[in-house]
Amino acid sequence: MKNDYVCPFCRGYLKVKNSVIFSARKENGEQGLLLMSPEIGNYTVRKHRSFRLADGERTDLYCPICHANLMAQNYNENLARIIQIDEENEENIVLISEIVGERCTYVIHGKKVEKYGDDAVNYFGAGGDF
Ligand SMILES: [Zn+2]
Repeated sequence: MKNDYVCPFCRGYLKVKNSVIFSARKENGEQGLLLMSPEIGNYTVRKHRSFRLADGERTDLYCPICHANLMAQNYNENLARIIQIDEENEENIVLISEIVGERCTYVIHGKKVEKYGDDAVNYFGAGGDF
């Protein structure tokens, strides 16, 4: 897995070793770091035990380097947007859910949307609103 991930705002590298790192804020203001798998479709999330998340809870994801809000405003406010740089050095937009426990990821390359995860139908529905 040679993919790299960068922040769309500062172009800082979000992947360190085997984790893509985000700063997250819950609606009650609590904040913590989330370490996600760089493997698309792997929804393992690591975090400190003091940062508790419940399924269905909404979080805002921020770049841990420049602190920009990663919300994918052009797509859906429940999704966060980062840039994937793949093995061929091509850049794709990757959208991930900001809802805890929601398993969906989208890789957008040009006009093509690849969907991953059990909940992928929640956005970019069958009608294809993209
Ligand atoms: Zn950034």
